Amino acid sequence: MADTKWVYLFNEVDEVEKKVGKWDNVRALLGGKGAGLADMTRAGVPVPPGFTVTTAACNAYLAEGNKFPAGMWEQELAAMKETEKLTGKKFGDPNNPLLVSCRSGAKFSMPGMMDTVLNIGMNDATAESLAKMTGDPRFVFDSYRRLVEMFGSVVLGIPDEAFEHPLAEYKAKKGYKLDTEMTAEDWKAITETFKAVIKREKGFDFPQDPYEQLRLATEAVFGSWNGKRAVDYRNAAGIAHDLGTAVNICTMVFGNMGNNSGTGVAFTRDPATGEKKMYGDYLINAQGEDVVAGIRNTEKIENLASEMPAAYKEFLDITSKLENHYHDMQDVEFTIERGKLWMLQTRSGKRTAKAAVTMAVDMANEGLISKEEAVMRVTPEQVDTLLHPQFDPKAVDAAKKEGRIYAKGVNASPGAAVGQIYFDADKAEEMAKEHKQAVIMVRPFTKPDDVHGMLAAKGILTSEGGATSHAAVVARQFGVPCVVGASMVKIDLETRQMSANGVVVKEGEWISVDGTTGNVFLGQMPTTAPKLEEQVDLLTLLKWADELSRLQVWANADYPKDAQRARSYGAKGIGLCRTEHMFFEPARLPIVQDMILSDTSAGRTEALDKLLPFQRADFAGLFNAMDGYPVIIRLIDPPLHEFMPDEEKLLEEVIEMRVKGETKGLAEKEKLLASIRGLHESNPMLGLRGVRLSIYMPEIVEMQVRAIFEAAADETKKGIVVKPEVMIPLTGTVKELEWIQPRLIRIATQVMEEKGVQFDYKFGTMIEIPRAAITAGEIAKLAEFFSFGTNDLTQMTFGYSRDDAERNFLVKYVAEGILPKNPFQTLDQEGVGRLMRMAVEEGRKTRPSLEVGICGEHGGDPDSIEFCHLVGNNYVSCSPFRVPIARLAAAQAALKHKPGSSYAEDK
Ligand code: PEP
Ligand code: MG
Repeated sequence: MADTKWVYLFNEVDEVEKKVGKWDNVRALLGGKGAGLADMTRAGVPVPPGFTVTTAACNAYLAEGNKFPAGMWEQELAAMKETEKLTGKKFGDPNNPLLVSCRSGAKFSMPGMMDTVLNIGMNDATAESLAKMTGDPRFVFDSYRRLVEMFGSVVLGIPDEAFEHPLAEYKAKKGYKLDTEMTAEDWKAITETFKAVIKREKGFDFPQDPYEQLRLATEAVFGSWNGKRAVDYRNAAGIAHDLGTAVNICTMVFGNMGNNSGTGVAFTRDPATGEKKMYGDYLINAQGEDVVAGIRNTEKIENLASEMPAAYKEFLDITSKLENHYHDMQDVEFTIERGKLWMLQTRSGKRTAKAAVTMAVDMANEGLISKEEAVMRVTPEQVDTLLHPQFDPKAVDAAKKEGRIYAKGVNASPGAAVGQIYFDADKAEEMAKEHKQAVIMVRPFTKPDDVHGMLAAKGILTSEGGATSHAAVVARQFGVPCVVGASMVKIDLETRQMSANGVVVKEGEWISVDGTTGNVFLGQMPTTAPKLEEQVDLLTLLKWADELSRLQVWANADYPKDAQRARSYGAKGIGLCRTEHMFFEPARLPIVQDMILSDTSAGRTEALDKLLPFQRADFAGLFNAMDGYPVIIRLIDPPLHEFMPDEEKLLEEVIEMRVKGETKGLAEKEKLLASIRGLHESNPMLGLRGVRLSIYMPEIVEMQVRAIFEAAADETKKGIVVKPEVMIPLTGTVKELEWIQPRLIRIATQVMEEKGVQFDYKFGTMIEIPRAAITAGEIAKLAEFFSFGTNDLTQMTFGYSRDDAERNFLVKYVAEGILPKNPFQTLDQEGVGRLMRMAVEEGRKTRPSLEVGICGEHGGDPDSIEFCHLVGNNYVSCSPFRVPIARLAAAQAALKHKPGSSYAEDK
C-alpha cells in the first residue's frame, strides 16, 4: 500500500491516464473536478497550481476506520512542496504565504452535497502580514474569519448558528444591516469571537498550524462522502455509494484584491437559447460566492471587454479552446487576480431543451461533433418539451411556494393547459365552441362518447384511470394535455364542483393542468407555445435521426387531419386507425345503434349500408393524406355496449316515466333498456369484442372491408398510391383467422374487380393476447403482418385491468419497487417483451417477410422503442404528437446498438 500513488499534481494527468486508461477511469480516480483541473493544466490553461488526493485514498480511509492509508499524508506534503515551487510562495510563511482551498470532487457532480474549506493557511501571523502586503486589511480579515467559520462548521462539526448568532448580535450592536458595512476592525473582532466559539465548543484552539488545518480539512472532505446529504443525493440520483470523493487542494486566487481583480461564471454558449455567444456575469473586486449570492448587481460578461481587455481576450481564447477540447458547451468559473486570469473550473454546462437542440445542430455543422453525436446529445424528453406548450418554470416555482399545487396525478399527455373547468363533454364543447372559452374538461373518467368534449378542451383532468385509460389514449392521440388518476380530487357531478385537500373549485373556475409533470394548479399559469414547423434546428436534427435509424416511425391516427399532422411530423405510415372512433360522430351513432338493435341480419345490413358511405369517405381521406405510405386500418374492436346509451341513466328515465305515468316513448325506451341489458357482460374486456365480435356478427366487418377497398380503388383511380393493410384485432387462435380472413379477402378482390383496379394490400392481425404471441408461428400462416397491441398484451399478461390498476395499486407497486416502472407506460421487457420477442422469431420462421410493428401506447416511449429495435420490429406507431420523439429515440437505439458503438454503455 505504501507504494500506491494516492496524490497527483494537476500537471501529472498524463501519468494517471497511462495508468488507468480511458478518460472515464481518470474521472473515477481524480473525480470530475480534479480531472477537469488537471486536463486544463495539460492544455496550457492557467489553472492555479495544486493537486488531487484520489478517490481511492478516500475509500481506503473510510475502509480503515477513518485512517489515512500508508504513505498518503507524506505524498500530500510532498505535493504541497511542489505547489510551493510552482507558485513561489510558502505554506505558512508569514512573509509570502501560500493559501489553498480544499474541495471535494466525486466522479459525478453532486452540487453542494459535500464539503469545501477555503483560505487554508491563514493564521494570526499570515493574516497580519497579508494585511500589510495587500494594503487591504478588510479583505484579509474577512477571509480569515471565513476560514475560522468554515473550519468550525465543516471540519469540526459545530452548528452554523454558533457563528451566525454572534455575528448578527455584533452587527445589531453596531447598527449595521449588511456585511458590506463591516470594517477591517470589525472583521478582526469577529475572527476573535469565532476563535472563541471553537475553543468553547471543542475545548481546543483553532489550529494555527497550516498543516494541521490541511490534514483535518482533508479528513473532513473524505468524511463528507458519507454525510447524510451526500448519501440522500446519491440515492436520489442513482450514484453508486462506493465511488468515494477526491480532495482537490488548489492555490487560492483572489478576485477581491482591488479594481484590477474580479471573478465570474460563464457559459461558452447561451444555455437558454443555444446561441453561439459568451453568456455570463462577473463582478469587479469580489469573490466567487458574491456572484452567485446576488448581493451585488453583476455585470454582463461582454462588458469585461472594455473593463479588462487583455484578460477578456485571453478568457475568450481559453474558453474557445476548452469548448473545442471537450466538444461541448462549457460552464466555467474564473478569477482575475490583479490583472492575471485564472480558470477555476470547467464542465459541460446544463442547458434548456431548445439550447440542447440548437447547440447539437450548430456543433455538427461547425464540425465540432458528428451528426451521430448531435443526435445522441438531445434527449427524447427534450424534444417532447419543445413540442408541447409548457408552463413558465418561474411561475411554477412561485405557484409551488404559494401552495397553489392543487393535485397530482399520472402525467398522461404532456403539455400545459389553462382553462375553466366543466364536468361533462357537452358542456365543455358548448363553452369552447359557442362561448369561445378555454376549457378544461374534468371527469372521474372518460368514455368514447366524451370525445367531442375532449377535443374541444384545452386540457383534461380525471380522478380515475391510468396511462392507457381512454382519457389518456385519446388525449395523447390529439395532443391535448392530460392528467389522469388524480385520486385526491373528489368530483361531485351533482353540485358541479370538485374538491381536493379541502379546496373547492366550482364549474367555470380556472385551473392549470400540467400533463408533463402531472401537476394541477389553481388559477391561470402563464405558458409558452412552440410549433414544429418553426423549429428549424429540430427539423434538421430529426432529418439526421431518420438517416441513422433502422426502425420506421408510423402514427396512430383515426381521421385524415390527424394523418396529415402525423405526416408533417415525419410519420412514414399509419400503424393504427381505430375505426370505431368514427362510429361515435353524431350523424352516425344513431345508425350504429339501429344496427345493434336490429334482430335480423337483413336489418343489420340495412343500417350498415347507411354507414358505408361515411366509412368510405373516412378511409379515402386517410389514403389521400398518406399517399404512397401504408395505412393500417383496424376492424371494429370494442364491445357493442360502448355504442349504447348509459344503462343506469336510461333505467332512471324509464322509472321516472313509469312513476309519472308517462307512456309516450316508454315502450321504445323499455326495449332499448332490455337490449342494453342483453349486451351486458361481467367482463367486457374479455368478452364479445375484436375478432370474436366479427365472427359472431360478420356484417360489420364485411361493410368495413368493402368501404376500405372501395375507397382505395377510388383513390387509386385519382392517382394516389394506396397501401391498405387490414388489421384483425384480438386474435387468440389461428382458427379465428381461418374463419374470417378468407371471407374478407373475397370481398377485397370482388371490389377490385368491380372497380377494375389492382393495388397491393395486406391482411394481418394484432398480437395482444398472450396465446397469440405463443402461437405466432401458426398465426403467421395467415397473417401477413403483426402489430403488437401492448395495451391489451400488458393487461392480459399481468392480469392487471388497464382501466383500474393505476388508480388502485400500480402507483404503490412502483413506489415499493415491486415493479420498476408503470408497465402501461414503459414496456415490461422481461414478461410482455419476452412474448413479443418470441412472436417475432416464431412468426418470421413461418413467414420471413412478416411485417412487425407496435401500436400500443408503448410505441411512443423511448425505452420501449429501443426494445422494439432490438427485437426486430419494422416500425413503431404512436400518436402524431409523439412522432418526433420516436424518430429521435429510434435513431438513438440504432446508434447504441451498432456493433462497436461507443454509446453502448450509456444505457
Ligand atoms: C392495444 O391493445 O395495445 C391497442 C393498440 O388497442 P386498444 O388500445 O384500442 O385496445
Ligand atoms: Mg387492444
